[in-house]
Amino acid sequence: MKRDTGKNTRVGLFGGTFNPIHWGHLRSAEEIRERFDLCRVIFIPVHVAPHKKADVISSEHRCAMVKKAIRGNSFFQVSDIELQRPGKSYSIDTIRHFHGLSRGHEELFFIMGMDAFREIPVWKDYPAFFSACNFIVMTRPGAHDAQPAELIPRDIAKEFTRQEREQCFVHTSGCRIYTAPVTPLDISSTVIRACTAAGKSIRYLVPREVERYIAGHQLYRITATPGRQPQRPPAG
Ligand code: ATP
Repeated sequence: MKRDTGKNTRVGLFGGTFNPIHWGHLRSAEEIRERFDLCRVIFIPVHVAPHKKADVISSEHRCAMVKKAIRGNSFFQVSDIELQRPGKSYSIDTIRHFHGLSRGHEELFFIMGMDAFREIPVWKDYPAFFSACNFIVMTRPGAHDAQPAELIPRDIAKEFTRQEREQCFVHTSGCRIYTAPVTPLDISSTVIRACTAAGKSIRYLVPREVERYIAGHQLYRITATPGRQPQRPPAG
């Protein structure tokens, strides 16, 4: 799926907590890359304030597991841009960062699940997103699939027109929102954390390297309590 925008490369930005990364993330990123002819997909673990979600482990661990999981796939990269910004981190700043790096030569596609997309109206400066990059909204097992017309936040709906041929919404800026079904792999990080806490196997839910990393660092062993400090990897 390619259209002429005058930009020579298409890049996917896949933000997530990745707590931890699993096969569901990897397979869907691979399918999206292929379908949208992306030259690379950049996984961006997002910063989560420790007081906000007690069961989110340190960003260093999450980033280290993404690195291990994507090793060997030359189309996949990881960025720690959100982790470098201590305190509040906003996706709009991340998109501006990648626009700055590409100097306008790359077309950016923000990849997210339908569940995450529904939360956009609470994001900082959310209307600005739709003129800053394209979106690819993955439909995910278990999630209720919105009808196309329900997808766009109501207060900015008039800024979009539906284009049936490409199955997308086009913003007045020219940026698009696509929906893309991905192979249903009903895996979630929540299940992986729960299995680990219960002493159960997570084999075949995550890559072997990630499984070893979790075991080696004794991650997700106990259910975190609010206010508890996230575990950090040893120095070096
Ligand atoms: P948790 O269970 O902790 O909520 P998660 O498994 O949903 O985590 P996230 O890191 O929050 O993982 O997900 C990042 C993005 O990947 C989200 O946009 C989410 O919708 C999508 N995603 C997560 N799991 C899958 C899956 N099995 N298939 C397709 N997309 C997924």
